Amino acid sequence: MYRILFLIFLLFIAVPFTLPAQSTPKTLRIQWFAGRRYVSLHDIARFYGMSMNMERNGRITLVLRNAKIVMTLNKRYGSLNGIAVTYLYAPAILGGRPYISELDFSKVIEPVMRNATLSKRKVRTIMIDPGHGGKDNGAPGANRVWEKHLTLAMSLRLRDALRAKGFNVIMTRSNDRYPSLEDRVNMREKTKADLFISVHCNASVQKSINGIETYALTPAGAPSSGDSRANFTRNPGNSFDRHNYRLAYEIQRQLVWKTKANDRGVRHARFYVIKNVSCPGVLIETGYLSNAREGSQLQTWRRQRDTVNAIVEGVMRYVSATAPAEKKPKPRKSAPKKPAPKAQLPPASKGAKAEPEAGPKTDRKPDAPLLKPAPKDDGTLLKPVPKHEKPSMKMIPKAAPDPGTRAKHSGK
Ligand SMILES: [Zn+2]
Repeated sequence: MYRILFLIFLLFIAVPFTLPAQSTPKTLRIQWFAGRRYVSLHDIARFYGMSMNMERNGRITLVLRNAKIVMTLNKRYGSLNGIAVTYLYAPAILGGRPYISELDFSKVIEPVMRNATLSKRKVRTIMIDPGHGGKDNGAPGANRVWEKHLTLAMSLRLRDALRAKGFNVIMTRSNDRYPSLEDRVNMREKTKADLFISVHCNASVQKSINGIETYALTPAGAPSSGDSRANFTRNPGNSFDRHNYRLAYEIQRQLVWKTKANDRGVRHARFYVIKNVSCPGVLIETGYLSNAREGSQLQTWRRQRDTVNAIVEGVMRYVSATAPAEKKPKPRKSAPKKPAPKAQLPPASKGAKAEPEAGPKTDRKPDAPLLKPAPKDDGTLLKPVPKHEKPSMKMIPKAAPDPGTRAKHSGK
């Protein structure tokens, strides 16, 4: 009885208040906090034309039709369009209003919400990297099946499926041998593949943990998802931060839908291979071998098929979101795409020129425009509110850098 009363009380205090996003901002307000720049969530909501709720428990939700951004004050977990994400930094209340770090806005939220923030790239050649191999077994599975066997089995299926879609596919290994991590990166640099997909299985001492994680390289100046210390080193893969994240998001989304596995989210890490390749890349943890149920599922034809189909669909959606405008295919739901004949594909070496990413940069001056308007027909989920095409950023003078917390993050 008391419990029910308490729940009613919780319901009462959790009633959200809606902040109407009617007025459009001239500026995206920026505040300094803990040595970093933060962007006003009210301004982001208005810029996207989304409505914003903040509940008493700190949960913040921005919504517009199918698009949904969820975060919680002082926590890094949240979701984008229903897919779990770990933000680089927790949102914070600054001057009485909620803010998110500028890095999260430009490198997590924007690449998912607006195609216009992604530079256009053609994808012809995809490199698949089956984790481990040879002397390196990876994590142990049931019945003496190791991670290296499962990553190879799934990767070979993935190779065939991507080839059937017309891509040129190169494997870092296609049998039970061990190319070093350096070898794998060198293969990508030599072949100039346009995408790099590393396939792994996970393991934990906590046997109950299960589910899928997709990793993008951590942006410079941020901590990885399992870490709290920022690292400011810029790696080759950081030239593609937004592409990395969009690719990881699309793949994770399809994996969760198709396998019905637990969504452990899109995460950031500095794994050697995705850190050092000069093209967009992801590392997929396709499930936990240490979990009895998922471990045996991962050995089934069905789970492997669903995993492969999901990765292919995720890649297709990424390719569609980043395709150059003139040849961009219209997204279709029912009609299957006809695979392009392989003979028409140009050699791999021609198609892999790295482009600088579009959109805001972290090192620009405070008064530079933060956002560019999206083209009318880019098929993006969200478009900026049209009246103010070039909002500028405004520094709020009273918010000085916090010297106490700044020192904590300036070391690396
Ligand atoms: Zn592994």
